[in-house]
Amino acid sequence: MSEERDAPLAGVFGWPASHSKSPALHGHWLKRYGIRGWYLPLPVRPEDFAEVLKALPRMGFVGANVTMPHKAEAFRMADEATPLARRLRAANTLILREGRIFADNTDGFGFIENLRQNSPEWSPAAGPVTVIGAGGASRAVIAALAEAGAPEIRLLNRTLANSEELQRDLDLPLKLLPMEKLSEALEGAALAVNATALGMAGGPPFDLDLSALAPGILATDLIYAPLKTPFLAAAEKQGARIVDGLGMLLHQARPGFAAWFGREPEVDEELRRAVLEAA
Ligand code: NAP
Repeated sequence: MSEERDAPLAGVFGWPASHSKSPALHGHWLKRYGIRGWYLPLPVRPEDFAEVLKALPRMGFVGANVTMPHKAEAFRMADEATPLARRLRAANTLILREGRIFADNTDGFGFIENLRQNSPEWSPAAGPVTVIGAGGASRAVIAALAEAGAPEIRLLNRTLANSEELQRDLDLPLKLLPMEKLSEALEGAALAVNATALGMAGGPPFDLDLSALAPGILATDLIYAPLKTPFLAAAEKQGARIVDGLGMLLHQARPGFAAWFGREPEVDEELRRAVLEAA
């Protein structure tokens, strides 16, 4: 790297991008490990994304995270992709090397690592998993759960056609159920996951009946604003162990940081606090 470019650049693409917690997250790690580098919010319109991406290597960028609505386009633009990113046809992490773009998808990794860290007694093979929601994040979570050895995955979604499309694309033996069958889907499950937007700050209100959720089950939400979502509060009331969604965000960031800045970062309480305190 020339003198002009002695501090590697990375950032998060989104439209919008200003709400992203990623600059606070990576900024905290850069400071903690004393690494000279920058991580910036990169608000880019969908119609400009491809052009901007092509210019990145010439600007000293070593990589980027990608959030809504660019994940599919980021995958299409990449020169190479991990098998998982190919399977999901979406990327959230880009690594730039010698002018080439490598795409990865680390959302599923973040999901599993969050549960491993915060509920060490749980294992993916512990029993059936009930996933509510069949959007982009759900795809990553389901692929990761299947890969990690979940014996049965029950998928519920408002729009059944979206569940069917997910099943087709991932080519997995899922048990598809309509939302009305939630009680049945929770029977004997070891893990329940909310992967819908229900209960998100500013999103649709949470209106699911969790009365069939048995004590001892592990429940987690992908939403982290608010931290204790209505889904987690209702599950806790039923006697479930709960893990919030912030850890998924923190852990999905690890592979990118390690590749760009050359250091395996840690996810701990100090990082959580720094990210929560960031405006
Ligand atoms: P998405 O692709 O837009 O999917 C949204 C999901 O919510 C779909 O299953 C959709 O059902 C369902 N939904 C939306 N409104 C609903 C309503 N009124 N009633 C019932 N279902 C409804 O979004 P996504 O990217 O998968 O994200 C889902 C959530 O995960 C978001 O809250 C996001 O912030 C969070 N997330 C967290 C992380 C993390 O690191 N913790 C990472 C990624 C995403 P239909 O198919 O019927 O529309």
